[in-house]
Amino acid sequence: MPLGLHLTAAGNNGLGESSSKVERSRSSVRRLRSRDAERSRRQQLRVDRPLAVSFDTERAGGHEVGAATLLLTGAECPFTCLFCDLWQHTILTRTPLGAIPQQIAAATDELGEWARSSAQPSPPIAVLKLYNASNFFDERAVPEADDAAVIEAVRSLPLPDDVLVVVECHPKILLSTSGRRRLEIYASELRLEVALGLESTAPGAMEALMKGATLEEFSCAFELVISAGASVRAFVLFGVPIGAGAGLEPSDQQRQWSLETLRWARDHGASCASVIPVRPGNGAMEILAANGEWQAPTLAQLEMTFKQALALERQAPRFDVHLDTWDLEAVERGCLSEGEADRTIERLRRMSSLGAEEYSGAEDVVDQQGAPCEPMS
Ligand code: SF4
Repeated sequence: MPLGLHLTAAGNNGLGESSSKVERSRSSVRRLRSRDAERSRRQQLRVDRPLAVSFDTERAGGHEVGAATLLLTGAECPFTCLFCDLWQHTILTRTPLGAIPQQIAAATDELGEWARSSAQPSPPIAVLKLYNASNFFDERAVPEADDAAVIEAVRSLPLPDDVLVVVECHPKILLSTSGRRRLEIYASELRLEVALGLESTAPGAMEALMKGATLEEFSCAFELVISAGASVRAFVLFGVPIGAGAGLEPSDQQRQWSLETLRWARDHGASCASVIPVRPGNGAMEILAANGEWQAPTLAQLEMTFKQALALERQAPRFDVHLDTWDLEAVERGCLSEGEADRTIERLRRMSSLGAEEYSGAEDVVDQQGAPCEPMS
């Protein structure tokens, strides 16, 4: 069945049912966010150094490049997306003035050591991700008064002058007056990419995911970033709890939604997109799963989806499709044995770093939902 028919059917059949589910989910998340016990479960975080510095590779313009990620600590995001667990890595107050530039500067040694290390075979770092578990242009998370110091701290890192600096931001904040102003400043001082959590363009998805933005706002945000001279990175979810049967649609429909969302991002000018499997871990997803409203996607389903996502890359060479390989071990194994799951994870990592042109070893993909398990070679 064509995707449009699937989506229309989901919208018509599921609206009444799905809106009550959305309400239940909303209150679950609100409860999670407001309960003191849950909030106090957060780690006590330091604000004078990044939570973590990690190194990996990704594709940019079809080539493999080195990427460094600084997980910065600061104020919680004001939005409450259903699937999000990033709030657990934030603080309950505003980010103190000076903390973000200090955290960036604190990564100098680790970046320098990485660059000097002859043991690491990775290509030189060309991408610096400044991820703050919130929105980079939100005044509470990154004070505007720190902007000049942030830019200076980035420039002082032992990285190439033309390093691509990636920050995350919600469209509502990007489209605000201060968001626009700060975007212009950063885009004029650095080679900037803004990552937007587009998640899913399926009808009703933004609302069900409690995204706090419409597709039209995403469209405006994409346009704004591109017209400021920066590039757009889109985050696309696989395994969203939406539609007529909540998260229980056949995996092929979930896959179609992810692919449709990737196409939307590509057609609206994104330079790259990252496919992210929805995982349990924030409390809300566990509640949905227990209520039969969500089923975690499996590794085999993810592999099938990502393989097809790479086909989109072949059609548009200026659009790189990545897989979020963080914590792939936590993705549901389905009926894969431990060895099969390990091999699938290894293949997924290889597919993500080599991309459509180079990777040709994905013929052994199995879609398990509703089908008997088959051996994975
Ligand atoms: S906008 Fe991003 S950080 Fe904020 S709740 Fe949603 S997914 Fe989490």
